[in-house]
Amino acid sequence: MISARGYAAPDARSPLAPFQFERREPGPNDVQLDVLFCGICHSDLHQARDEWGGALFPMVPGHEIVGRVTRVGAKVSRFKAGDTVGIGCMVDSCRACASCKEGLEQYCEKGPVYTYNSREKESQQPTQGGYSNVLVVDQDFVLRVPDNLDPSKAAPLLCAGITTYSPLKHWKVREGQRVGVVGLGGLGHMAVKFARAMGAHVTVFSHTDKKKQDALRLGAHEVVVSSNEAEMKARQNTFDFVLDTVSAKHDINAYLRLLRRDGSLVLVGAPEQPLEVGAFSIIPNRRNFSGSSIGGVRETQEMLDFCGKHEVVSDVEVIPIQQVNEAYTRMLKGDVKYRFVIDMKSLK
Ligand code: NAP
Ligand code: ZN
Ligand code: ZN
Repeated sequence: MISARGYAAPDARSPLAPFQFERREPGPNDVQLDVLFCGICHSDLHQARDEWGGALFPMVPGHEIVGRVTRVGAKVSRFKAGDTVGIGCMVDSCRACASCKEGLEQYCEKGPVYTYNSREKESQQPTQGGYSNVLVVDQDFVLRVPDNLDPSKAAPLLCAGITTYSPLKHWKVREGQRVGVVGLGGLGHMAVKFARAMGAHVTVFSHTDKKKQDALRLGAHEVVVSSNEAEMKARQNTFDFVLDTVSAKHDINAYLRLLRRDGSLVLVGAPEQPLEVGAFSIIPNRRNFSGSSIGGVRETQEMLDFCGKHEVVSDVEVIPIQQVNEAYTRMLKGDVKYRFVIDMKSLK
């Protein structure tokens, strides 16, 4: 076994604290890496506080990982020591179901093995994430990070990036379409960059008036403060696509009403509490209301390559791991520009 160090949530109510644990020795198909940077996703907070239920403790969160390969198994040919690689939200899946065969491992019929708060297939040991110094991952779930991207700014692409890129691609967002992004946080700011790079007209809907300048700088064409009823009403029936990234309970009907005929609202935000949908928010205009989960391995690589080509990265605030609990508190207050990323050098 390999001894590993990180920060873990001991239970749903206590702050994260230093934690020692073991990882498996790399097998023939495994890649071992030293973690360089790990982003802090709001899903880390939801799970560390068991807001979605079924959490496994102690839990080392983190699924926006960029690291350097230190060792590879005998059957690994695509990676070698020294490579800069990424690990996202998944580390395994059944590989045999229809979804896995289509490269949609996030929809694996047996359920993917998530990077943390999940169980390894064979051993049933709990998986532990990227708030740690070392990781061992099957080569099929290891991504290549383009050399021209700053690794600290690339880390959030592994979740915030793919979770917003994938629905924009699946719903075929294209030049000239009107796209709304609800919530300007980690996911939202990536959605703005991608939608803009795909040629859409982008409107940010924020519940505060404090992010207007940032939204425009990130690439939005306009910003609407969602409490402004007149501005909301003026935009009803005009959007082709709306991506909702909000992490807390909110009125989804206000955003469904923005959709024109056959438009789609896709929910990626995962609030703890259910959202109420009024029938007359979706019946008019034959509106579509869907959800979307991260993205498959193949598409994640496609997204990273797109980012390399278009020089798209996340706006980050790099912190030492000792500040992780403070970062959680600030994230809940919306005080993030626009992703916290842990520099793993700080883990002494
Ligand atoms: P984040 O950085 O905290 O951003 C969430 C944003 O939601 C905030 O910046 C804020 O934007 C808005 N918001 C927060 N509280 C609100 C409230 N009470 N009312 C209205 N708006 C509020 O979080 P994130 O990391 O981007 O994650 C967002 C959500 O996506 C989380 O629930 C996370 O678990 C989920 N997620 C889902 C997937 C998936 O595969 N579907 C993947 C990753 C994350 P404004 O201030 O601009 O309003
Ligand atoms: Zn995430
Ligand atoms: Zn499967």
